[in-house]
Amino acid sequence: MQYYINIKEQKIPVIIRNYKKSYKIIIFFKGNTLNISKPTFVKIEEVMQMIKQNENNIYNQYIEITSSKNTNIKQWVTGEKIYYKGTELNIIRQIVDKNIDTIQILLKQEEKKLLILVPNRLENKDIKQSIDKGIKDLFKNNTQAMLGVKLPYWSNITNIKYNEFKVRDAVSKFGSCIKSKKLLHFTSRLIMLPEDKIDAIIVHELCHIVHANHGKDFYNLVKKFIPNYSDIDKWLKDNSNLIMF
Ligand SMILES: [Zn+2]
Repeated sequence: MQYYINIKEQKIPVIIRNYKKSYKIIIFFKGNTLNISKPTFVKIEEVMQMIKQNENNIYNQYIEITSSKNTNIKQWVTGEKIYYKGTELNIIRQIVDKNIDTIQILLKQEEKKLLILVPNRLENKDIKQSIDKGIKDLFKNNTQAMLGVKLPYWSNITNIKYNEFKVRDAVSKFGSCIKSKKLLHFTSRLIMLPEDKIDAIIVHELCHIVHANHGKDFYNLVKKFIPNYSDIDKWLKDNSNLIMF
């Protein structure tokens, strides 16, 4: 549901989502929209109180995001950049003279290019959404395929068995684990990150099958397989906006 909140005369768009199984309120920006994930039982008043407490921080982030040079929102035009496997690719959008309705998205990793081919009959329409979807689908497929290889590998190394993994579009967290079901979730944008970070995220979630909480035992287990985990964790916190677009 779309709301707006006013902070220091700025009208900031807000989206609130309810989660049955969630146990805490998470507030983050996706583009210029303040996203709030909250447990279903938490009342809006409580969320508003939390926003009030973090007013300055939210305001400063909003100003930073909306001052155009820092925006993560892609228009998918030539000159923009996007990360893929930790490498910055140059976005190149071309109009092609084809009598078709599909936009083609081509990854040219070696040339550090992401080519977006738009048939000329579509160029005048609002095609940002179609490209958004095309990119998301591409990243989802590639993340899925990569996890299909990496998860069994790390499961073997750690000797931790999982039942299933699912990939979904998420920007608030890289992964999660439902211990009782040995079910792992990952963001479909994982493929945007450097490989050592992806490995660390996979091992992190696998280790939750053994230890649900972020206790000492949990981190000891993670670090057994990823010795520089602390550095990677810090990097991921500092670069969480890398997967935004
Ligand atoms: Zn965790």
